[in-house]
Amino acid sequence: MSNAPRKPGSDINVSFEFFPPKTPKMEETLWASIERLAPLKPSFVSVTYGAGGSTRERTHHTVKRLLDETSLVPAAHLTCVDATREEVDAVIRQYWQTGVRHFVALRGDSQAGVGGAYTPVEGGYRNAVELVAGLKAFADFEISVSAYPEKHPESSDFATDIDLLKRKVDNGATRAITQFFFDNDVYERFVERVRRAGIYVPIVPGIVPIHDFTKVSRFAAACGASVPTWLAERFEGLEGDAETRAHVAAAVCAEQVLDLRRRGIDDFHFYTMNRADLVYSICHILGLRPDQESAAAGDKSAAAA
Ligand code: FAD
Repeated sequence: MSNAPRKPGSDINVSFEFFPPKTPKMEETLWASIERLAPLKPSFVSVTYGAGGSTRERTHHTVKRLLDETSLVPAAHLTCVDATREEVDAVIRQYWQTGVRHFVALRGDSQAGVGGAYTPVEGGYRNAVELVAGLKAFADFEISVSAYPEKHPESSDFATDIDLLKRKVDNGATRAITQFFFDNDVYERFVERVRRAGIYVPIVPGIVPIHDFTKVSRFAAACGASVPTWLAERFEGLEGDAETRAHVAAAVCAEQVLDLRRRGIDDFHFYTMNRADLVYSICHILGLRPDQESAAAGDKSAAAA
């Protein structure tokens, strides 16, 4: 083992998730965020796919722009919802031709939204297990999948969920990214269950910085993530005080990631909500520093923005 001192943060991998923007103004915000976060050298950046493929073109556009204008590695989210196998395969082929080699493969939710009964399309991929197999049959893509530390809301028990995760990994997924959570004990217990089931891929914690506590709570309720009382108390009474809220959000998120570090975690996936401010600060606290070389050379994204 080497005794050479390591730069703080040099053993940390981060990835950032963005959603495809709807308007020119949102596009500007997204690209300003990408420009700010790119020098932190994420291992990849992922772009979500709207319910039922509703953002199909916008997701593709964002991923293509990332490939054309930055040195970042994009991962395209893809779902099975409301599409036949042929339609999904056509999307995969289009991404392949664009140069995409990493997917986040998901079943997705019914158009009725999270929690609505999911009905696969006749002749379509029925869930992420089948989609991962379809992707691998097409090419040797890198494939990330979802995992649920508090179990998926449609799951009757953890065993079903973890069995499904195992099948996704057996079909070729090499990483699972978790739904966001706020209680690190819950995450740790989940990883223990996953390892006991013989799943050895990284289970990367999905971290959500809380830009808007009310929105995050609503979303958490819909996707089965619990919001601890202590967390609600931190934001209590701050409804009209954006500045303090931002400080509290940074402190809460810093506490969470530093505690995960102490537990030996060095991979983090950030749900950025297309905003760089909080994520950049948290990465700094984790020890990450902008890459001087790319800053000096002027990252392609900076030039393009
Ligand atoms: P799967 O892993 O296929 O299955 C999820 C659950 O469905 C299982 O745990 C199980 O409870 C049940 N299930 C499925 N098949 C079976 C079966 N054969 N037998 C029994 N139970 C079964 N949604 C989007 O629309 N777009 C996105 O870009 C997007 N990105 C995401 C990224 C991450 C990291 C995460 C965690 C979620 C994301 N989602 C996204 C949300 C996701 O689509 C929903 O949570 C959806 O309900 C499940 O998709 P999945 O791929 O996790 O499903």
